[in-house]
Amino acid sequence: MNRLYDIIVAGGGLAGTFAAVAAARAGKNVLLVEKEGYLGGTLTNCGVGPMMTAHAGEKQVIGGLFQEMVTRLEEKNGSCGHVRDTTGYVSYLTPFSAETMKLVLDEMIEDSDCHVLFHTQIAQAEADCQNGRIVSVALCSKGGLSKVKAVIYIDATGDGDLAYMAEAPMRKGRQGDGLSQPMTMNMKYDMVDREILKHHVLEHLEDFPRLKDHRRLIEESGHLSIAGFSKEMEAARDRGEITFSREELLFFETDTQGEFIVNTTRIIGKDGTNPWELSESEREGRRQCWELDLFLRKSIPGFARAHLIQTGPNIGVRGSRQLAGCYELKEEDILEGRMFDSRIALAAYPIDIHNPHGSGTDSRFQMGANGYYSIPYEVMYCEKYTNLFVTGRCVSASFEAQAAIRTTPTTAALGQAAGTAAALCIEENVRPADLRRSLLREALLAGGAIL
Ligand SMILES: Cc1cc2nc3c(=O)[nH]c(=O)nc-3n(C[C@H](O)[C@H](O)[C@H](O)COP(=O)(O)OP(=O)(O)OC[C@H]3O[C@@H](n4cnc5c(N)ncnc54)[C@H](O)[C@@H]3O)c2cc1C
Repeated sequence: MNRLYDIIVAGGGLAGTFAAVAAARAGKNVLLVEKEGYLGGTLTNCGVGPMMTAHAGEKQVIGGLFQEMVTRLEEKNGSCGHVRDTTGYVSYLTPFSAETMKLVLDEMIEDSDCHVLFHTQIAQAEADCQNGRIVSVALCSKGGLSKVKAVIYIDATGDGDLAYMAEAPMRKGRQGDGLSQPMTMNMKYDMVDREILKHHVLEHLEDFPRLKDHRRLIEESGHLSIAGFSKEMEAARDRGEITFSREELLFFETDTQGEFIVNTTRIIGKDGTNPWELSESEREGRRQCWELDLFLRKSIPGFARAHLIQTGPNIGVRGSRQLAGCYELKEEDILEGRMFDSRIALAAYPIDIHNPHGSGTDSRFQMGANGYYSIPYEVMYCEKYTNLFVTGRCVSASFEAQAAIRTTPTTAALGQAAGTAAALCIEENVRPADLRRSLLREALLAGGAIL
């Protein structure tokens, strides 16, 4: 195990997987370390979906490895590609099969000759602070503790575990009270009678403010996204059947008709990086799922005979630690649709803040004249270390800005950028700060990124 790699990537969500693939395709010797037994992060281990969004209106703003994965999923009948969002929250979203995704990501990793250690967790980081370098990371696996070394480390753990363990500068939660967005335990159902559900929604469109302007889309769509049933939720709360605060039901049909992901539980006031609070949240999430399951069957048309396939499996953490990097992405950058010269990704998901205190979701849709914004390279590294990149949802961003860039097409694009940048830093023998932005831009465009 005591080997030297060019690049070690911690965490195999879309960000980490695509960081590893991009670096390996650039000819680097890469090790990807993932604590679960498969890749995909929240999309496969928290039942999250659909992926949203790769589009600003009709314009696709995220391509590269993300699009390659979607195309590969389509070829295996594991996705219907980009389809219109019947809630109108975003223009297009991308339903997929989590099982097919696991396979496709394995194939992408194997095709690029990348080493993977599953069931292995980053347990510690050894740093030489005087020289600003991470020296090694300790891994915890079935083999016990071991140590691996790399020239460059990429933290794609979502929570910034590696950076935190190396004592890189980090922030957590929103300014003022330090609270993070609530966690959610997602649920997946099959055998939902979508025709009964669709009929009910179309008959009562005035009760669904987010759907009421999309009658035709709902009639024609093979993939329903539903937000609403707030009156039914309120009545269930009044009857004591639901004990948590969430204003409405939110659920999405996957690539399989009649299979739905329900994103509605809300666990507040817990820190996803505190092991005790995380453990409590898992239990509380399952308890809320149980309440919701009884409510859905009893009160929501189409769910009477639906089958709950899974909760989680893991609780979903929306936000926790963020790198305090060389640039912190801000709310204004999103709202003004700022185009950074050093941009590594475009994105069009709005600021979407689930209330850390309970009921309510604060969405800010303004994104400049084009309906999209950009993310600069400088959010992925800090001054303290010259061989560390942080990517995915834990890049350097304010609480509000992170609430926009945290969704999966965007984190996928950030991952590709981190892997590409790390490979270039090794080739050019430069620190992240000194990498020529034009070189990075050329390499990203060559890799299909949209900038
Ligand atoms: C409840 C919920 C609903 C959401 N809904 C949507 C949605 O509908 N659409 C959408 O696009 N996005 C959605 N998101 C946001 C999105 O899922 C995440 O923000 C995104 O997956 C982050 O990607 P990532 O690659 O940065 O991190 P992750 O997907 O979290 O991947 C991190 C990976 O690192 C691994 N890991 C963590 N710690 C360690 C360690 N110490 N050692 C080794 N491995 C480690 C994890 O197992 C995981 O595989 C949702 C998020 C939540 C929580």
